[in-house]
Amino acid sequence: MNFLNSKTEIGDKKDLVKRPSAKEAEDAVRILLRWAGDDPTREGLIDTPARVVRAYNEWFAGYNQDPTEILERTFEEVAGYSEMVTLKDIRFESFCEHHLAPIIGIVHVSYIPDARVIGISKIARLVDTFSKRLQVQEKMTSQIANALQSSLKPLGTAVFVEGEHHCMCTRGVHKVNSTMVSTTFTGDFLKKQNLKDEFYRIINK
Ligand SMILES: [Zn+2]
Repeated sequence: MNFLNSKTEIGDKKDLVKRPSAKEAEDAVRILLRWAGDDPTREGLIDTPARVVRAYNEWFAGYNQDPTEILERTFEEVAGYSEMVTLKDIRFESFCEHHLAPIIGIVHVSYIPDARVIGISKIARLVDTFSKRLQVQEKMTSQIANALQSSLKPLGTAVFVEGEHHCMCTRGVHKVNSTMVSTTFTGDFLKKQNLKDEFYRIINK
């Protein structure tokens, strides 16, 4: 795994970030445990810093994944298929970059092929790549749409994201069950209202 850098999105210059060692990261967790008011040397917490650091490798695995690689392989033989392709109800788990609190929700992705299609699991992986990073939901929505649009070059792309922000339901205004919706449309979806309508019908919105 490449821990030193990541492409934040397609077209971005490589952003070199010096990564601390696991030991340094564990020390930082110990400080936060003390900040919370607890004693990191007590038995129940002794292995917590190492667990947190391992969990971060999973929660933020997207920094080690390149969306262009995921979308590299496309297929041309689709027997003239030219209608909308939709992957619905892709669960995502992310973290808001303002509070490091979870954002959990659902993504729906649609595109209208222009002669080429992509393996449908690649769309789910694309969602994982962008969600397993510190995020702002609006940014994640457009990153998914733009990555698909620029790699596959379909006639249009639609992305709908609905997320529950734990920074809002467990702290701050404490609004449980309110979700945030964000959308990005490109190409024909912007020009033709009937395509947008069809997309909303398919995803039951
Ligand atoms: Zn937040």
